[in-house]
Parts: sequence; structure tokens; C-alpha cells
Amino acid sequence: MKILVVGANGQIGKHLVAKIQDTDGLQAKAMIRKQEQASYFKELGAESVLVDLEDGIEKIEEAAKDVDAVVFTAGSGPNTGKDKTILIDLDGAVKTIEATKRAGVNRFVMVSSFDTTREAIQSSPPSFSPYVVAKHYADEWLKRTDLAYTIIHPGRLTNDKGLGKVELGEKVERGEIPREDVAEVILEALQNEKTIRKGFQIVTGNKSIKDAVEDL
Ligand code: NAP
Repeated sequence: MKILVVGANGQIGKHLVAKIQDTDGLQAKAMIRKQEQASYFKELGAESVLVDLEDGIEKIEEAAKDVDAVVFTAGSGPNTGKDKTILIDLDGAVKTIEATKRAGVNRFVMVSSFDTTREAIQSSPPSFSPYVVAKHYADEWLKRTDLAYTIIHPGRLTNDKGLGKVELGEKVERGEIPREDVAEVILEALQNEKTIRKGFQIVTGNKSIKDAVEDL
């Protein structure tokens, strides 16, 4: 299975591409936006493709043409304005979903935010709510497609070493999770059909990632 990782040069993205390359039968295609980012992926033996999420849908469609699954783990980050929240976290995600459909790819994994419900929008601090709005509507767009999607809602991300243990469910208590463990959950989700057309929250917990996904 070949997987297009959108946001591959991000912190979760880099863990994910490395894990995909380490897994028999899986192969990553890293979607990046700068040529100088390609060497990291070349060293891992992964292909890369240069596309900016502000480009037209056709460019993303072209990147997705020869893959079996797409993972969206891009994001505008906390240091850009609300314009980028709309352009990347909302429109970039929707364009990636539409490009996936146009390319005839069926499997899609979305890295979302911990809580993207309407209630979460209403209760978020004003500085954070535009991001929650963007993630809410991107998730809703995906749910209204026929794609075999999985929506992953991680708790607060850390750069701690992955523990390989999570609590995973439709609703779990708010907490933290290392980015490395999020990448492992994405990898597991891609390989477990039980995650198809489902969304779940994840934080650090007591169950092995394999068991937690299997028990979904
Ligand atoms: P990250 O390190 O900021 O990675 C985001 C990636 O998106 C970067 O590689 C960046 O590219 C890429 N990107 C931004 N604008 C782009 C554009 N116009 N075209 C193409 N790519 C673009 O984020 P992370 O830590 O891996 O987390 C991934 C996502 O998880 C976040 O974006 C957020 O939505 C979500 N999340 C975060 C938290 C949290 O606690 N922070 C919790 C739950 C969910 P460059 O490398 O070129 O800059």
C-alpha cells in the first residue's frame, strides 16, 4: 500500500513517513512544499512530491494519482494568522479530500483536533475558536463523502518519546500524547479496517496501540 502523507515535513508527518518505510508492504510518498525538505525523505527511501496546499486541487490530485491512501497531517500552526487557518486547516483539508476523490483513492486518514464538536467551538477561547471551526467543517466535509475515512482526534501533542500505550475511544478524558504515538496510531489505523468511517479521540493510556485500535 502506498500512502500520500500530506504535511510530511511536520513533526507527526516525519515520524509517520519513517514508520511507514519501516513496515513491510507499506510505502510513503511525502507531500512537501520546499525542495530542500526532500533529502530527509530520500534518506528514508521515500518518494517526495512538491505541492503547496494553497495550490489548486489539480496539483494535489496529481500527487494522489498513484497512491492507495491519503493521510492529512498538515496544519497552519500557532504562529500564523487566521487567514492561514482558513487556507490550510479548512480549505487545504477540503481540497485534499476532493483531490483524493478525483484521483480515485478511497482511503483517507485525517489528523483532527481533540474536540471538533459544535459545543467545543462555543466553549473555546476566542483566539482558538477559528481553528476549531476550521477543523469542525473539514471533519464534517469528510464525513459527508463516501470515502473510507478515519478521523483521529489527538489530545495535546508533546515531543516525548512514544510510549506505545494509549486510551482510545469516541470520548476520552482530555490529556496529552506524544507525536510519535499519534504516528503509530495512524499507521495502525491504515492497517485495520475496523477504523473505517469512524472517528476517535486518543491520549496516553494503558493499552497497547494495536489492542486499542482492535478494540475500537
Ligand atoms: P507541524 O509540525 O506544525 O506540521 C504541520 C505541517 O503542515 C508542516 O510540515 C507544514 O509544512 C505543513 N504545511 C503548512 N502549511 C502548508 C502548505 N501551505 N502547504 C503544504 N504543507 C503545509 O504539526 P504537527 O505537530 O505534526 O501536528 C499536526 C497537526 O495536528 C496540527 O497541524 C494540528 O492541526 C493537529 N493537532 C495539534 C495538536 C496540538 O496539541 N498542537 C493537538 C491535536 C491536533 P512546513 O514543514 O513546510 O512548514
